[in-house]
Amino acid sequence: MLRANGARRASDAGDRPGVLQFHPPAAPAVPVVFDSPHSGAEYPSDFNHIVPVDKLRKAEDMYVDELFASAPRHGASLIAALFPRSYIDPNRSLDDLDPELLADSWPEPVRPGEKARLGHGLVWRLCPPDMNLYAGKLAADDVRRRIDQYWMPYHDQLQTVLNDMHGRFEAVWHMNCHSMPSLTRGSFLNGSGQADFVLGDRDGTTSSPDFVHFVRDTLRGFGYSVRVNDPYKGVELVRAYSNPPDGRHSLQVEINRALYMNESSFERLPQFDDLQANVDRLIATVCDYARQSVV
Ligand SMILES: [Zn+2]
Repeated sequence: MLRANGARRASDAGDRPGVLQFHPPAAPAVPVVFDSPHSGAEYPSDFNHIVPVDKLRKAEDMYVDELFASAPRHGASLIAALFPRSYIDPNRSLDDLDPELLADSWPEPVRPGEKARLGHGLVWRLCPPDMNLYAGKLAADDVRRRIDQYWMPYHDQLQTVLNDMHGRFEAVWHMNCHSMPSLTRGSFLNGSGQADFVLGDRDGTTSSPDFVHFVRDTLRGFGYSVRVNDPYKGVELVRAYSNPPDGRHSLQVEINRALYMNESSFERLPQFDDLQANVDRLIATVCDYARQSVV
């Protein structure tokens, strides 16, 4: 929603059909922002993938937006993508682009990282584990349109809210929310199993250690197993807008899907409500932490 001068206020409800939902605080605002970049399931009509949609749906962070839906009632903000990450991934940088994907040249420099080389960069080339997502290459104009219509509005909304809260409170705590398969290749191979929650601060660079320890200990207090930066350290959304010395803290949260859903049928488990109640307690606790930190 744009004001007459074009500036968007974080307090504006900012739903954009097919792109994102923005839920501003529904109680006195606290500088805590949750975002769910991968729970979107509105597949755009020009998404010409050749793999069955149920294969693509395994890549969604299904239900994560619902698990955090109570955030505004505690005074926090919540942003959730509506498009699927397999169409364009908001948790990748714009230069994390695989040149192999494109039919023509890209006008800007690219720096494909490890994920892009594996087919899971900004725009995916492969559907996990290794199925070609498209029949051929994509036109650069198609990728540009996905950036302009989906990636940019998502980042604009998140950055607007973080800046607004930081402007008002001189600090902001951002929790970037995801889910993870219960068995990753690493945990399968070494037999360790997957933790209930994995927190990522890119090896101590995106948040104060105090906040990371606070969230870790809160979750452990609820009875969950928690690992930090193992195996998920956090990617672009916690990197892009964090600056701990300036009071901008970002933390990635990965929730084990086995806690709440059947990973084959996609159905919720009866335990969903218990997890949602504990996520609600986590949100309340984090909002108290932020309130006490800015007085
Ligand atoms: Zn995710």
